[in-house]
Amino acid sequence: MKPQFKRNIWISWLLVVPLGMWLIYHFFPPDFHNLSLDLVAFFLLMSFVSSMPMVINNTPIFLVQWVSLAVFLTFGLFIEMIFMQLMIIILLIRVRIPKEQLYRLPLNSLMFFLISVSSGLAFYAVGGTHGMNLVEEPKSILLVLVYAFVIYLSNQILLSIILYVIHKHKRYLLGKDFIWETATTILTLPVGMVLYILYLDVGLLAVLFIGVPFASLSIILNLYYSSDKINNYLQKATEIGHELAERLEEKEVMNLFIQKISTMLPVDFAYILDVVNEEELQLIRRVEKGEEKDPGNIKPLKKNEGISGLVWSTKKAALFTKKKEWKNIVEGYMPESVESVLCVPIVRNNQVVGVLLLASSQKRAYEKSQLMIVDILCSSFAVAIENARHYEKTKEHSERCALTKLYNYRYFDNLLSEEFNKLEVGERNLLSLIILDIDHFKSVNDTYGHQSGNEILFELAGRLRALIGSKGTVARYGGEEFVVLLPEIDKYEALELAELVRRSIAEEPFTLAQHLDCIAGDYVKVNITASIGVATAPEDADDSMALIRHADRALYVGAKRAGRNRVAEYIK
Ligand code: GH3
Ligand code: MG
Ligand code: MG
Repeated sequence: MKPQFKRNIWISWLLVVPLGMWLIYHFFPPDFHNLSLDLVAFFLLMSFVSSMPMVINNTPIFLVQWVSLAVFLTFGLFIEMIFMQLMIIILLIRVRIPKEQLYRLPLNSLMFFLISVSSGLAFYAVGGTHGMNLVEEPKSILLVLVYAFVIYLSNQILLSIILYVIHKHKRYLLGKDFIWETATTILTLPVGMVLYILYLDVGLLAVLFIGVPFASLSIILNLYYSSDKINNYLQKATEIGHELAERLEEKEVMNLFIQKISTMLPVDFAYILDVVNEEELQLIRRVEKGEEKDPGNIKPLKKNEGISGLVWSTKKAALFTKKKEWKNIVEGYMPESVESVLCVPIVRNNQVVGVLLLASSQKRAYEKSQLMIVDILCSSFAVAIENARHYEKTKEHSERCALTKLYNYRYFDNLLSEEFNKLEVGERNLLSLIILDIDHFKSVNDTYGHQSGNEILFELAGRLRALIGSKGTVARYGGEEFVVLLPEIDKYEALELAELVRRSIAEEPFTLAQHLDCIAGDYVKVNITASIGVATAPEDADDSMALIRHADRALYVGAKRAGRNRVAEYIK
């Protein structure tokens, strides 16, 4: 929220509340005769009830309003108003608003000031007085209902305005919090009335008679709400588990995991650490204030080292509510502003495979009840990551040649079709292809052995990769044939590159460590050459197969037949 906005809230409070209170005091002065102990008793009851708030969608639900009904009927508007203001302070302390949200104090104060005033004035307007006997004059119950209705109505209206203006959140009529408020109103209104009636009859004892069941009701509702909340969390966790399972790539799984967990919990910093070789914890994902950062330069942790190291070795989650609690344990990296930390082991088959560390700049950002949810999410995450890693490995195997680690024929074929499509739809202008075949490779095999031949293929692959770099894609096309696909490179440039490749092969002998009559430490150097053909689309070919065919033709006709160790271009 903008600071300017917060300032406006404080200013509105200053303009309305102090003066308003003085006016109320002036026009509806409290009767100080019957105050004393009774007032203290009511105050204690109210404080007790408001120290057990139910918070739904960031909105505290005030069961306390119905004690305040009895207070209003007995002591008048001014006292009721002051009590409600004090309750707001108690409530906000109880829900532990962080410093940045201090504006909620004037905001709530203003809101309840307006509620007290509008309901009080409505009560007086319809002829209500204090000390009415609800039993002997049943009509006065109607007046109380008017009072209660105005409280309820103004509460709803003000809440909707606040939610809309501040959170840009439209409150739906019949939404969840609306139903909760209506239900608690209907449940607690009679209790408030009975409290008042009994108080007139038996005095202070009424606070005890009604206070105990009232407080119990409040506790029960609270329990019900928190179990409802956990149910919701569980349902969400299951959904997230399914979504995670659908992602195929490790990176996607991690992104989704962090994104989802950040919508459920207050997360300023999120880290995923991977257990590497059972030896150390390596940071593999680092998201700070919603921004992804490079995890690479952060030192790995050993077992028992720091918060994550401890969680790894104990296999137990750790929850810290403020800096003081973890300051002496932490090792290595931790952002300065962190207060709350939630650190959970990621367990697969009873083994810790990683650690999740969530942190917030707020104190007491996480609760024990959330630990269970994060734990469940981590299990789904561990399964999803394992599947994704497996998938990526399989994909890698199916796309690459095992010996040279270059892309294989299958991958290259797909890539060539894709690139040709781009050419056809105008996304590309040029596509060059270099095809290379080692000269007399059969005799290299015959002389030094098949294994040595493989060594040469391996070394050649390395040279090609280094030379081409990001200019194009190198693939092993067949036995000792290699191809290079070069998008947006014209024929002239492709020929130059091919010549560079030819020379890098011919001018630098290849080293063999394992030739047939190998003596330890004795290396053999072998000179080899290659013949190369080049073709460029669209000038040389209309489709992908023609591009390969024509480059191959250049290779055999222009290079091999012309004496080998040379580069040739396709000529129509
Ligand atoms: P040319 O100059 O005409 O290309 O002669 P060449 O001997 O290289 O003939 P060709 O290209 O037809 O023969 C390919 C040879 O490469 C056949 C085979 O022994 C060898 N070869 C193919 N794949 C492999 C491989 O994976 N490892 C090894 N060591 N040799 C291979
Ligand atoms: Mg060949
Ligand atoms: Mg050959």
